[in-house]
Amino acid sequence: MTVRVRIAPSPTGDPHVGTAYMALFNMLFAHHHDGKFILRIEDTDQKRSRPEYEENIYKSLSWCNIHWDEGPDVGGPYGPYRQSERSDLYTKYAQELLDKGKAYKCFCTAEDLEEIREANRESGRSGYDRRCRDLTEEQIREKEAAGIPYTIRLKIPLEGECVYEDAIKGRVTCPWADVDDQILMKSDGFPTYHLANIVDDHLMEITHVIRGDEWMSSTPKHVILYEHFGWKPPTFMHMPLLLGTDGKKLSKRKNPTSIFYYRDCGYLPEAFVNFLTLMGYSMTEDREIYPIEDIINEFDAKRIGTSGAVFDTTKLDWINQQYIINSIPEKSLWSRIKDWQMNDEFMEKIIPLVRKRIKTFGDFFDVCDFLFINNLRYTPELFATKVSPQVGCYIYQALLWMLEENEVWSGEALNEASRQVAEVFGVNHKKVVMKLLFASLMGKQQGPPLFDSIDILGKDRTRARLLNSIEFLGGISKKKMSAFQKCWNAGDCKSLVE
Ligand code: GLU
Repeated sequence: MTVRVRIAPSPTGDPHVGTAYMALFNMLFAHHHDGKFILRIEDTDQKRSRPEYEENIYKSLSWCNIHWDEGPDVGGPYGPYRQSERSDLYTKYAQELLDKGKAYKCFCTAEDLEEIREANRESGRSGYDRRCRDLTEEQIREKEAAGIPYTIRLKIPLEGECVYEDAIKGRVTCPWADVDDQILMKSDGFPTYHLANIVDDHLMEITHVIRGDEWMSSTPKHVILYEHFGWKPPTFMHMPLLLGTDGKKLSKRKNPTSIFYYRDCGYLPEAFVNFLTLMGYSMTEDREIYPIEDIINEFDAKRIGTSGAVFDTTKLDWINQQYIINSIPEKSLWSRIKDWQMNDEFMEKIIPLVRKRIKTFGDFFDVCDFLFINNLRYTPELFATKVSPQVGCYIYQALLWMLEENEVWSGEALNEASRQVAEVFGVNHKKVVMKLLFASLMGKQQGPPLFDSIDILGKDRTRARLLNSIEFLGGISKKKMSAFQKCWNAGDCKSLVE
């Protein structure tokens, strides 16, 4: 049997370090077993999926030197590899489940579901109350004739428990009573993750599903789907989650989670990859620095950790330094730094910003150092404006919210957002908001045109610096945050500025 594994990212946001982490373990498992590693794009969420996010998945994984044998961009014998191009298949298999009596049409409206949620709140129960599960043929015909839209729901056994062997976690047991009658097809005819994922894993002959353990709550639904279809399930291997230093799930609201952030800060892809493998695996002889080939050779699922691994950038820094000292010959170092962003392409972007601001070439880095250094030297004086540090925090937070909401991080978007923020807070745009932005993003009181610079600095470093500034200015307590949020939603934060 040829080992076939896959990652199945959804192109709904920035390329997450967790995607690289899972891709790596899938890739090294495949290579260890002389198998195939597949990249499938799960873009069934039409509202949130975007082509540029898909492109960024390819770009960021390629930066990590992660390569796949089959995928939307490279093709392969089991295509198409993008779920939006496989709709007919899901419709067909949903119908098969209906025909077998393993799924049912649910005609509940949004109001019905709200009513169920309300009743659940009172009774302490959760999930769908299965009121459409036993509709008669006649009732179904009537509702269909009346043109009531429906979803297709999975019939979960009403008693007993789901048991499966996880190659990492061991035997997993889950009472069926805890599992909801999952929607498989939405009323717009699009499948949900669960149906599409199972159909594709089966048709693509995936032998091992290696994914993060946040998916474990979905696995019983997948196990029963395999059973209903009469298909052999793959071996499940649920990897420990990446955690922030606070022990909680990594979140972009607290730490940089985009792979591009690490690229832009000048980490070496081989060190980054080494660090990521170390998160989930312990090498024999406690080795911490090793080339990817070594872990491919010795890979043993028993050495995968069972609990979360802390994504600790201090450790990443140390590993990166070890690579710089020990793995890159001195004569190659300059060429690696050039590959990063000391290259013509990057420099040419900067020239228009710098040209009229330097008296000598010696002033060049004075003007644009913030595009090259990771740790800006923040001082309280730098951030001093008419508003208190606390209000400074609110202003940064408001900018972050606005940029996240619009999902556009261009200089132009930041310009627009900064003006709106000034208005909502009733503060001077230039003297307060712009000053805070110069301090946060450049570590300077003034510099080259801010918004043009942001386009070069990039979204991920911009976000990280705004977050760092909030932390530097003392942060926002939970209580203050909720009060601030209220004012912000009401569109008036003037009362916060004293
Ligand atoms: N589309 C899911 C994701 O975004 C795939 C999870 C899985 O591997 O089953 O990660």
